[in-house]
Amino acid sequence: MDYEKVFRDAVAKVRGEGRYRIFHDIERRAGQFPRAVRHAPDGTVKDIVVWCSNDYLGMGQNPQVIAAMEKALESVGAGSGGTRNISGTNHYHVLLERELSELHGKEAALLFTSGYISNQATLSTLANLLPGCVIFSDALNHASMIEGMRQSKAQRRVFRHNDVKHLDSLLAAEDPRAPKLVAFESVYSMDGDIAPIHDLCDVADKHNAMTYLDEVHAVGMYGAHGGGVSEREAAAHRLTVIEGTLAKAFGVMGGYIAASAALCDAVRSYASGFIFTTSLAPVLAAGALESVRHLRRSTLERERHQERAATLKRLLTEAGLPVMDSVSHIVPVMVGDAALVKQASDELLERHGIYVQPINYPTVPRGTERLRFTPSPLHDDAMMMHLVRALDEVWSRLELPRANSVAAARAVA
Ligand SMILES: *Cc1c(COP(=O)(O)O)cnc(C)c1O
Repeated sequence: MDYEKVFRDAVAKVRGEGRYRIFHDIERRAGQFPRAVRHAPDGTVKDIVVWCSNDYLGMGQNPQVIAAMEKALESVGAGSGGTRNISGTNHYHVLLERELSELHGKEAALLFTSGYISNQATLSTLANLLPGCVIFSDALNHASMIEGMRQSKAQRRVFRHNDVKHLDSLLAAEDPRAPKLVAFESVYSMDGDIAPIHDLCDVADKHNAMTYLDEVHAVGMYGAHGGGVSEREAAAHRLTVIEGTLAKAFGVMGGYIAASAALCDAVRSYASGFIFTTSLAPVLAAGALESVRHLRRSTLERERHQERAATLKRLLTEAGLPVMDSVSHIVPVMVGDAALVKQASDELLERHGIYVQPINYPTVPRGTERLRFTPSPLHDDAMMMHLVRALDEVWSRLELPRANSVAAARAVA
């Protein structure tokens, strides 16, 4: 058996579908975000502006966060030294879990090494603790949630994206006595739309189902204290589990759930992905703690973030570019073709020093390939004007569809 050939063939298949991923080699420079430096494959180095970072608020370079991490590094060292159970529970972990439970108004919180693991470990564990559990999953749920559900023995029903009536009918079709869990997200990161949280909770309540909300693209950014869309809409108390990341708006790394003390204790006691892995480095917990604390008090970043997103949407619309409807901070611009979106992204980078990653299948459905911009509080007017001019030029050169033709195509469809 030629093992190497198997691997090469597998990659060739991805390449043949135009889905081979090339990682750009980027050097972030503390204090200069969203400016960064790109190391090209030919060894040249060029200044770029990053337009697709999930460090949504620039907290990854916040001086207070950096100072907290430096202090933690000096005082407790590099690693945690163990799993949570075997010598790896650091005081920063305890403080951070307390902070996160308060952020979401829950009895308890539990840290994981990433948001991915928090979804996978929690969903699989919950479903396995409830014999005969049926999980109802939004059609656009993230891969980490799907993985968790697949790992469990639970049956899974997929409801149409944000479709409350469809969820209602699926719930009604099940045995009323069966344990049920409804899993969805608040902000969907590719379209920038937001779930009707109260309506989904109403339906879940009607059928006595638990609710699980992934707030990864909302924590830090929505709600008076950064508790996410569930805080903004005064719905946090209705959700059984709120899940979040410390790696996006909070700018560091790690994931968590916030829920009742009993539920967190059960996940802590049964979830393999929590138990059998070294806990987060204390430095990361200390940085995340500072970031969460800062964003609970300060609304400046959130206000500026929303203003910047609104401004970019307006500028793109005025330039006739096909910006998709988004009620959030995410600004997707439709291209609708895998090769062209890649070409547009390459030209923006090579000719204009603008970095925006093309978004392809399977992240989004085929035919809806797009560029996804994430303006932060640190993207200023000059950067936006530069971006719009560059996009206008690329759109003309590649003869990409403008806003009117996209609207017309949608109307026909
Ligand atoms: C990024 C993401 C995650 C995973 O979070 P990480 O902390 O990056 O592992 C989970 N859910 C959604 C919706 C995401 O976009």
